Formats: sequence, C-alpha cells, structure tokens
Amino acid sequence: MSVQALPATDAVDLRSDTVTLPTDAMYAQMRAAPLGDDGLDGDPTARQLEAHAADLLGKEAGLYTPSATMANLLALLAQSGRLDCIAAGVNSHIYTSEAGASAFTEAFLMQLPDPLGALDLQALADAVSPARGSARPTLLCVETSHNNEGGAVAPLAHMQQVHALAQQRGVKVHLDGARLFNAAAALEVEARSLCAAADTVAVCLSKGLSAPMGAVLLGPEATIRRARVLRKALGGAQRQVGIAAAAGLEALSPAQIGRLAEDHATARRLAQGLAGIDGLAVNAPQTNIVMVDVQATGGTGEAWETRLRERGVQVRAWGPHRLRCVTHRHVDAHQVDRAAAAFRAVADCLAETA
Ligand SMILES: *Cc1c(COP(=O)(O)O)cnc(C)c1O
Repeated sequence: MSVQALPATDAVDLRSDTVTLPTDAMYAQMRAAPLGDDGLDGDPTARQLEAHAADLLGKEAGLYTPSATMANLLALLAQSGRLDCIAAGVNSHIYTSEAGASAFTEAFLMQLPDPLGALDLQALADAVSPARGSARPTLLCVETSHNNEGGAVAPLAHMQQVHALAQQRGVKVHLDGARLFNAAAALEVEARSLCAAADTVAVCLSKGLSAPMGAVLLGPEATIRRARVLRKALGGAQRQVGIAAAAGLEALSPAQIGRLAEDHATARRLAQGLAGIDGLAVNAPQTNIVMVDVQATGGTGEAWETRLRERGVQVRAWGPHRLRCVTHRHVDAHQVDRAAAAFRAVADCLAETA
C-alpha cells in the first residue's frame, strides 16, 4: 500500500532535538550582541557566554566551540597524550560516533560496559586498578543523559561513585553532557551538581536548548587555556562568533533550560501511546528520547522509518531493529498523538501482510 507523502512542513519531526530552530528571543539577542574578533583579541559576547556557562556549572573557565563533537575532542586532546589510554562507555557517543578522536589524540580508546547509561563500577574499578600496570586509562569519559541508551540518566550517587573511583587512581574525568540539562531536569538536581563529579564537561547548545549551533567546554583554567590553543589549531576559532554565542546565551537562560521538562512529558506521552501497540517494545523515557524496538513486528528499522515518513512522521532507524524518536520544542502533545496513530497504522499494515 502506498500513501501520498506529506510535505515536510506538516511532518512530525522526531529525528532529533537538533532540528529545533532559534527562538525569537535568540534572534533579538543575535541582533543586539556586541561583536569582536574571537580569533584575534576576543569576541565580547563569546566571552560572556563562556563566563556565564562556567558560572552556571561551577567551573573555572569555559570555551565556546562550533559543536559538542569539537568540545569533546578538545577535552580529549587537552587531557591526554600519545599512547595514553582513554576509557569510555562502549555505547557512548564518544566511543560509537567520535572514535576518530583517537586518530587525532594518538591515544587508545578502551571500552567499558555502560548498560542503561551507567558505567559498570566493577569494570571501571578493574580498569583503573594499579594491577593493570601501564594499560590503565589516564582519562575517563562519562555521558549523561545517555543518547544511545534512550536518554537514560544514571543517578547522582552513581556519578559520584564513578568520580571517586577515578580520582582515587589519579584518572581525570570528562563528562559528555551534550544533554546535561535534560539529565539534571530528570533527576531534579542542579546541573552543576552533576558535573561536580567531572574535571571537564561539554554541553551542546543546539539540541533541546534550541541554539542554531555551538557548544561549550568547561573546566579548570589551565585545561581550557590549552583547549583554546588547540581549538585554533583545528580551525575552530571563529571571528564575529558572538552572533552565534548570543543565541547560546539565550539557550542557557532559565526559560530554555526550564522548558526541557516539557519535552520529557511529551516523550512519556509518546511512549504511553506506543506501549499498547502489538509488537513494539518501548523504553520508559527518563528524558526526551523514546527508543522503539520493532523486531517483533517483522519490519526492519529502515522499513519502519520509510513507512512512518509516508504517514508524515519522521524518526531515525537506530540499528537494524530499533527506532529513535526525540521530542523537542516543536513537538506538542497533539503531534505525538498523531505520531502514535501513524505507528499503529504501520503496525496494522505489517500484521496484515505477515
Ligand atoms: C549530539 C551529541 C554530541 C555531538 O554534538 P554536536 O554538537 O552535534 O557535535 C556529543 N555527545 C552526545 C551524547 C550527543 O548526543
């Protein structure tokens, strides 16, 4: 059965929270922002964003970067050297999507199990044990909320245990907090308490927080100074970057941070809508990511993606039998209900042809 494709503007776009467009307040800030040359003697708005983010997260200094990928890479480059070992969760974004960093750092990446977004403490203790000799990591990467684990958020006490284990053994901790504020909202704690357990933290501004681009890396002054030099080496120093940083400042306002809980409510509503559909196994979302296992329906992730698109719902296949659906500012309760109806229609269609 073929269905007329809807124009993209009518589609319910659950592909990612990166699709969020700048808010009106962001455009206003972008227009009014004082600008300079960030590659020369500094851009005042970028500096303001860096200071604001550092203050908000309780770190000494901040660095504005074009993306969270670059913020993570700079954290690795600034805190590890050639032939060092960097440990990261096997399902973490740094391990699954940014493994190329090992080519730049010339460090080894070591994988640790991280089921449900929480690093396995025994595996971590073994990895950092002095008994391992020179094959011990010097840097540990942690991720929260955990993208590939359906936006899962490890408890604050777990994060503290991870940090304590690392610190005891002199291992630095980098937190990939691309969605740190989602994690904080889910746990109902201040974001700064989540990254108190890390030396450096990267926060993405262009996901649920709606800035058009950019991320910030926060940490000790000396580390950030080093990361700033490395950013220039990578071509990441931009000129009148305050235009983008102004939107970033608005992204880190109480209004934008505060509304993330709405996305979590929308995700729960979507998960509830899908839970009753035969053949679908759905996570209980802690944040804004709904993972749907479609294996029992007999359709592949890709086939589901195509059939949902034909019904005006955009999702992404996440492996052969899973779909990832992400809620954000442009998706309301009405739209996730429409999405759930489309899932039901596809499931019925597959059951008929089975
Ligand atoms: C999206 C994401 C990144 C990369 O962010 P970009 O700004 O798109 O480079 C890094 N880590 C995690 C966990 C992410 O979800």
